[in-house]
Order: sequence, then C-alpha cells, then structure tokens
Amino acid sequence: MKHIFVLLTTTFLFVKNGQAQEVIQRKFEKMGSSFEITLVHSNPIYAQQLIDESIAEIDRIERLISSWDKNSQTSLVNKMAGIRSQVVSKELFDLILRANTIARLTDGAFDLSYASVDKLWSFNREEITPPSPSVVEASVAKIGFEKIKMDTEKQTVFLLEKGMKIGFGAIGKGYAADRVKSLLLEKGVEAGIVNASGDMSAWGTQPDGSPWQVGLINPLNKNKVFSWFPLLNTAVVTSGDYERYLLMDGKRYGHIINPKTGYPSQGVVSCTVFAPKAELADALATALFVMGSETGIDFIDQLPNVEALMITDNGKIIASKNIDLDENI
Ligand code: ADP
Ligand code: MG
Repeated sequence: MKHIFVLLTTTFLFVKNGQAQEVIQRKFEKMGSSFEITLVHSNPIYAQQLIDESIAEIDRIERLISSWDKNSQTSLVNKMAGIRSQVVSKELFDLILRANTIARLTDGAFDLSYASVDKLWSFNREEITPPSPSVVEASVAKIGFEKIKMDTEKQTVFLLEKGMKIGFGAIGKGYAADRVKSLLLEKGVEAGIVNASGDMSAWGTQPDGSPWQVGLINPLNKNKVFSWFPLLNTAVVTSGDYERYLLMDGKRYGHIINPKTGYPSQGVVSCTVFAPKAELADALATALFVMGSETGIDFIDQLPNVEALMITDNGKIIASKNIDLDENI
C-alpha cells in the first residue's frame, strides 16, 4: 500500500450550470502496480470509455519502456550496449533526454543507468548476504548518465560500455500519469486525478469547485493521516521503501540504489514531491532517497515550483521551505 491517497470531500453527483456532474472512478492493475483514475464528467458512459483509452495508453507506454519485454525499444538499446547506437522513437528519445537532464541536476543521484546493478539485489523484505564488494564495484563502473550518448539528428541512443543498462522504474509511472492527464485534457475532461500507484497528476477541481485533497500517512504510524494537501493543477508523488526493502545485519535498506556506491539507500522511509509534472516529481523523489534528508531538502529549496516532504527512519518529518507543516497537520 502507498501512503498517499485521494479523499473526495464532495458528493459524487453535483449540479453545475444546470448539468449534473459525476465523479467516475476506476481502479486497475498496470505496470505491476495499482492505478486509479478519477474523472469529473456529465456522461458516465463516455467517461468509462475514456478510462478504457487511458488504460490502452498505459499499455503502450509500458511496451515502450519495459525492460522485461525483450523486443521493447528499451531492451534493444540495452542489448546494443557497447556495440552500436540504436534508433528509437521520438517519444523515447525525448524521455531519455529529459531523464538525463534530471540526472545532471541531481548530480547523478537519479540515473537511468543505475540498472546495471539491478540484478545484484533482491528486495524481498528478508535478511540477505550482500554481494562481494568487488562485484558491486564492477557494476558501479557501468553506471553513468554521461555515458548515454544521444544523437538528436539520427534519433539514436548508445550506451557506451558493454554491460550498461537503462531502466525506467523511477520515472515510468510518473510519465504515464502525465500522459494520461494530457490525453484526458485533449478529450475535454475538465477535472480529474490519475493515481499511478502514488504518482498523482491532477487538474481542475471536484464538482463543487473545491480542490482535490490528498492525505499522507506516515509509514511509521500507519493509522493516522498526518497531513492533508490540496492539489490544484499539479502533480504529487510519494515514493517509499515500505514494500520493497532488504535487511543486512538487521538494518533496513530501501529499493533505491545509490548510483555512486551501487548499494541500496538508507535513512529515508518516505519521500513526497510536489511539482508541475509527475515525471519530474517521480525522478526527484527517487533522487532524494539517495541524497538523504538534509542535502535533499536543501536541494529542493533551490528549485522553483517544487516542494518536498521527507520522513526519516528515526521518525523525523522534514519539509521544504514553502510547506507549512503546522498548518497541514
Ligand atoms: P516506487 O517504486 O516507490 O514508486 P520510485 O519511483 O522511487 O519508487 O522508483 C524506484 C525504482 O527506480 C526502483 O525499483 C528501480 O527500478 C529504480 N531505481 C532505483 N534506484 C535508482 C536511481 N538511483 N536512479 C534511477 N532509478 C532508480
Ligand atoms: Mg521515482
């Protein structure tokens, strides 16, 4: 379970300008996670069709970025690592380009090429015997966004070293949430929330004009919502280590890898980022785990239009400067 959810504060049916507006919601599984789409519409049958189209769009994105599907464009890029460049679609090219911009911005804390160490760790909530330091070192040597060469004219991607790999686990669901929001906006839907397993993209308001509300739960105190936030044409993403973690010497490590060391990150249990786009929020939430709470919040305070809230494993809640926790608790 993700420790963030949408609260509907108004009735499901509301009359606006003489027209009944309904809130239509559907939950489904995609990309190995649970999704939920919430729409405001006067025609529930048409709204359900739009949700079907949204699901088809998520399937399309999954096929593009999947590392499991051997024939996906992403798998082809990985297969050609150290061999040659691979032509990709404009969509994938642009996504990798934006991801590399975030990698630069976060000084490599977020890095698509973290994926070469993916196989070294399994996050099954169990005590493990760590891989030998030399194996980890050899894998870390393959990481580095600056070794992802891109040619804009030819629309190609080349991973310079054999054994390099890219993976979209930290950004794919955010991207999907943004894409579905765009699709629904194009179809004239005035308000909604796409919730891609804790990666939310919202627009418009609830039928009565009040903003969408999200509630955050502290993973260390699961019974209580500790904060409510209104969402107005913005995205919010929560990333946490509550489901995928491992233990070494009894200590808990989350599923986000520090690309500099190759080891799983420690110290942060939950991270929430507000940004104009879910894709950016998703990538930054991942980076914050690697940066740790102090460096992470300092970093967020220097970015425009981005806010964050982090919970450390010793129960501290730290927020960026424009979040007034007292007001929200
Ligand atoms: P969640 O799965 O909780 O939504 P994230 O969005 O933070 O979490 O994504 C975590 C996933 O990102 C990992 O499962 C892995 O696939 C990938 N990943 C791990 N470490 C990094 C990293 N340093 N940079 C980019 N991607 C990462
Ligand atoms: Mg992420």
